[in-house]
Amino acid sequence: MKYISTRGNAPELTFEEVLLTGLAEDGGLYVPKDVPQYTLAEIESWRDLPYAELAHKVIYPFVEGSVDSEALQTILNEVYGGFAHKAVAPLQQIDHNEYVLELFHGPTLAFKDFALQTLGRLLDYVLERRHEKVVIMGATSGDTGSAAIEGTKACKNVDIFILHPHGKVSEVQRRQMTTVKGDNIFNIAIEGNFDQAQDMVKASFGNQGFLKGERKLVAVNSINWARIMSQIVYYFYSSLNLGGPLRPMAYSVPTGNFGDIFAGYMAKKMGLPIDQLVIATNSNDVLHRLMSKNQYEVHPLQHTITPSMDIAVSSNFERLLFDLYDRDGAALAELMGRMNAKKDVVSLDEEKLAKARVLFDSFAVSEDDTVKVMQDVFAETGYLLDPHTAIGVKAARETRRNNNIPMITLGTAHPVKFEDAVKRAGFDMPNLPHHLTDLMDREERLDVLPADLEAVHKFIAQKTFK
Ligand SMILES: *Cc1c(COP(=O)(O)O)cnc(C)c1O
Repeated sequence: MKYISTRGNAPELTFEEVLLTGLAEDGGLYVPKDVPQYTLAEIESWRDLPYAELAHKVIYPFVEGSVDSEALQTILNEVYGGFAHKAVAPLQQIDHNEYVLELFHGPTLAFKDFALQTLGRLLDYVLERRHEKVVIMGATSGDTGSAAIEGTKACKNVDIFILHPHGKVSEVQRRQMTTVKGDNIFNIAIEGNFDQAQDMVKASFGNQGFLKGERKLVAVNSINWARIMSQIVYYFYSSLNLGGPLRPMAYSVPTGNFGDIFAGYMAKKMGLPIDQLVIATNSNDVLHRLMSKNQYEVHPLQHTITPSMDIAVSSNFERLLFDLYDRDGAALAELMGRMNAKKDVVSLDEEKLAKARVLFDSFAVSEDDTVKVMQDVFAETGYLLDPHTAIGVKAARETRRNNNIPMITLGTAHPVKFEDAVKRAGFDMPNLPHHLTDLMDREERLDVLPADLEAVHKFIAQKTFK
């Protein structure tokens, strides 16, 4: 499989190169040049496959040429065999024809494990063959950091440095990062806020001179194609479990960076019958405003009780725009230039937006409504939603087109990770799942550093393996 940039002015790359690259050199995002297509009969023939084998069917075409077929299956068996639920991505019914797809049975209790567990192992596989070592650097306010650390802890060729704002991450989330054992794992608590940590990471990618030897930085945020690829699988899995592909499904996806929902769009392009894809956002609603009013305008970031969806810009949306603009890289470069200038309100061509509206519905959910849905669903079923998932359920109920089509909301995290929202909804904190019961007693490892780029660079250079 070859990959091309959404801005049309960067070299075509293989999967292996894309995995190690991040942003394209023209500033665009890499997308597969051709999307594999399957007939209903082919998809139906996958019905009885366990998760890891279905994952191989979906993922292999995207890595072909870079990863050997058997090696991929070994990696996937190891990843999904490590989940705490045998079905990996089980469905929970919450009403007639309405479901939550539980994506929080991985080691860090959020859907990001699906992709980052795989990504870490693929990286190590590729680096081993190339005799290279890399450094992962990222900033996190929670979910991404812990999932990336868990995903790379066994990697021999990867050192990982995750920056979080000191004292500003919940105890469960911090401990999920700082208690993971491994000589290649470094938690840096920055004396500053999340934005300062993120700015330092961005500046480091721009100037990698501080790294030792031939080492390069690798990005593990959702601009990395390998993450999207792994997330396509659970759309197929859930559909097949509810009678797909012979009947269509609808999905509601709590989203910030448009990563998880882009994976749903990919599943549809590959041939899975999806009747409706709902973009569910919190009050950081840049996508909902664009979809409903055709006005793209970046507002200041708001901090909400759904922190994993707190974004000002939605980076993966560019991948969808590329298709809406008929894969015209030059047109997209021009459009993204205007959108990133953040000066004027930008509108899409009406005809392009009309295409998007056929594919997607959107809805923005307030904090009060998020809490209310958590209470309602608990009263109706005894099931406690995490606040991000609650946003998905609310958006699903508000935008549903056809009650006869199963509506599946992606359950993106376990509620135990989000104490503020659970308490605000009036619930006691649920127990930690069995594989994490001793989390509060485990030993923590972290280094506190000032919000100073030079200090961080010195630290990384010192700690990187020889
Ligand atoms: C990361 C995350 C999201 C948002 O996912 P995107 O791919 O960025 O849209 C939603 N919910 C939870 C719990 C997350 O961790």
